[in-house]
Amino acid sequence: MSTDITYAQELDKEDELNEFRHEFYQSPERLYFDGNSLGLLSKRAEQAVNTIMESWKQYGIDGWTEGEHPWFYLSEKLGRMSAHLVGAQPKEVIITGSTTTNLHQLTASFFQPNGKKTKILADELNFPSDIYALKSQLQLKGLHPEEHLIQVKSRNGHTLETSDIIEAMTDEIALVVLPGVLYRSGQILDMKTITKEAHKRGIIIGFDLCHSIGSIPHQLNDWDVDFAFWCTYKHLNGGPGSVGGLFVHQKHFGNHPGLAGWFSSNKEKQFDMEHSLTAASDAGAYQIGTPHLLSAAPLLGSLSMFEEAGIGKIRKKSLLLTEYLMNLIDTELIDHGFTIANPRDQAIRGGHVYLEHPEAARICKALKANRVIPDFRNPNGIRLAPVALYNTFEEVWKMVNILKSIMENQSYKHFENKRGVIA
Ligand SMILES: *Cc1c(COP(=O)(O)O)cnc(C)c1O
Repeated sequence: MSTDITYAQELDKEDELNEFRHEFYQSPERLYFDGNSLGLLSKRAEQAVNTIMESWKQYGIDGWTEGEHPWFYLSEKLGRMSAHLVGAQPKEVIITGSTTTNLHQLTASFFQPNGKKTKILADELNFPSDIYALKSQLQLKGLHPEEHLIQVKSRNGHTLETSDIIEAMTDEIALVVLPGVLYRSGQILDMKTITKEAHKRGIIIGFDLCHSIGSIPHQLNDWDVDFAFWCTYKHLNGGPGSVGGLFVHQKHFGNHPGLAGWFSSNKEKQFDMEHSLTAASDAGAYQIGTPHLLSAAPLLGSLSMFEEAGIGKIRKKSLLLTEYLMNLIDTELIDHGFTIANPRDQAIRGGHVYLEHPEAARICKALKANRVIPDFRNPNGIRLAPVALYNTFEEVWKMVNILKSIMENQSYKHFENKRGVIA
């Protein structure tokens, strides 16, 4: 592979998604590689917010049923628009809540300890919020988290072995909750196999798709996954605090939600104002209260781009970008103490590259001082996400060369090797 910038420019010319880049607010002086933490604003997302604001301005209360996107049906509409990203039937997806509240809702609904089966299986590498939620759900059921939450161990601190996960599915496990893509190493778990093995043992299984949705394809319906949940502000570019999403397999339709509210209703019945809930007969049943419409609005614009681009093409470009980035790191940064800690194998490599370095905190600060936006993960990790819809190969080239000069001139030593409040 050539390390010349002209090679990167050639790859950009062959990129079939390059027109989407112009739909995002990308500052020309900034190299943004943090789309797996907060995706960038697109013009379409901005326009969609304006449209919802306009219907408020124009219709007042009647915006619930009037205007281009009646608010009463927006969560369902956005669910239908997201279904292709997770391989779901349109009614299996609803845009509601946040990652963590959706996990609470789904655990409250699907974790039914019974007889010997009283434990939840998670992993030791997952994002803290998921673990806190699972522990508190155990506590609500009067179970001790130390005893009833089992966390699969990683052999190398970065990845999980499918066989270790399966081995941990003992006859005491009632529920398994795992990420689709690990937030640090970016490893893709074999959701299909793990689901099959869980079901063989009578275990319900759900996945956290925060780092996989919008980055890799899924087939949740075919794989027979029981439920899933995710945020929409990372790869889906829904904006800070945008409304989350969830999937419930159609085979569970008709069940009562664990945490009910009036938006769990069958929509025809909701305004009958009865005190006994008639829950929606689809994933809509897992909503609780009034949707956060202004935080859902950007998704109308953002998801339309995913519909046009198609997750297949997004994944294809993403793999080329991460491959190119890793090759450049191998050749340009070889003498500077970086380890590539994400899996290289395409079958299990997610949408970002994960580097480790003992000076990672101050290297990230030096990158930011040079207008490169990486993502630091305590204590020694640097995540770099070249995003298919808006990053270019040339940007990857520039970023690696800035990193190289920071290492060569040791300018990172001007910064303290300590994380900021948000990192
Ligand atoms: C980003 C992320 C979260 C964040 O949860 P919110 O409720 O959206 O704040 C939770 N879990 C994982 C795995 C994440 O990557």
